[in-house]
Amino acid sequence: MSDKIWANSGDSHLMEPFELFQENLPKDLAERMPRSELDPDGAFETVHVDGQEFRRKVPFVKRPMVDPETGKSVFDRAPGANDMRLRLEDLNEEGIWAELIYTSIGMWMHSIRDPQLMLAGCRVLNDWAIEYQRFSPRYVCTALIPTLSVDTAIQEVERTAGMGFKIVMLPTSPTLDGPNWNRDDWHPLWASLADVGMHVGFHAGSDPHEADTFNGVYYRGPGAHLLNYYEASYHMQLAAAKLVSSGVFERHPTLKCVVSEGGATWVPFMADRLDEAYRQHVNQVWPKFRRLPSEYLFENVYASFQHDVSAPQALAAMGYRNVCWGSDYPHLEGTFGHTQKTLRELVGDLTPAQRHRITRGTFEELFPHVPPAPADDTDPVDTTG
Ligand code: MN
Repeated sequence: MSDKIWANSGDSHLMEPFELFQENLPKDLAERMPRSELDPDGAFETVHVDGQEFRRKVPFVKRPMVDPETGKSVFDRAPGANDMRLRLEDLNEEGIWAELIYTSIGMWMHSIRDPQLMLAGCRVLNDWAIEYQRFSPRYVCTALIPTLSVDTAIQEVERTAGMGFKIVMLPTSPTLDGPNWNRDDWHPLWASLADVGMHVGFHAGSDPHEADTFNGVYYRGPGAHLLNYYEASYHMQLAAAKLVSSGVFERHPTLKCVVSEGGATWVPFMADRLDEAYRQHVNQVWPKFRRLPSEYLFENVYASFQHDVSAPQALAAMGYRNVCWGSDYPHLEGTFGHTQKTLRELVGDLTPAQRHRITRGTFEELFPHVPPAPADDTDPVDTTG
């Protein structure tokens, strides 16, 4: 008898092997793909993307991600980070059942400036990620979509839907300076996603980046790290607001978006702000909806949190039901090694129905094809699900 709380994760990641692009693209294209290089002391990291360099001090000391002996990728924390079978053993140990899985280095793909190059890179990543999903129904992988043109975006949506992907990952803004997600230019993309029945995932740190900044460096000076961390969450909230405010969910009521690694209480807060503007600024608001903005936020937008102590109260006290826990496995901000302690602290005092919704129900509503998690306090019999 174990004493596990089982939970699905609305926020997990694959660790793309260093050699993935070299093995699957012509050399001249592979060299332009995102790659991370650590300084020998592990304190600074440089990410190279299509001739651009992004450099930052890493928030924790890392070991090199390429083994100098074998030239192969290594990851120094979760044993299953680079292995689809060992990963299930990690998940079983932690009490994590199914996962919504994002990319890692692929979050840099949207800083490429050449539409065909971005398409080629996304295709390689998606062809590799789908092998995880085919290995176990507990893996729900996101398809990375190239967003430098509507045509390449729709091309990859249709291709990946045919491969069995259930959800795409989009950056919080499609490009550095082109039309944003609220503009009519993107209508065909939302229609295409609704047609094939795929959801949209937004993840922290997925904005396209300016050449002289690092991922998420918006401020420098005192407090910069905290400000930058907060700003990354804010960009995801805005991505959801763009879809609600421009009427994407009004036109496509079955389309759902998941905001991962950004807490949950921002949804009721945003609902108040948008409803007030919608009601009080009646001459300025366009387009008009059949329902209040808050109704689209509460029904079409889902939020995954990991350590946020206020998040369960979005469900328990603020009427927002689409709250989902997420582990962020195997990233270092995540709960690997302390998942059960974290879950106990976060959901231990909730009613059984509230706890069920956060740990299982919200995820099951998004991905009804996934087999249900084992009962709490038991271990799975068939580890592949
Ligand atoms: Mn994450």
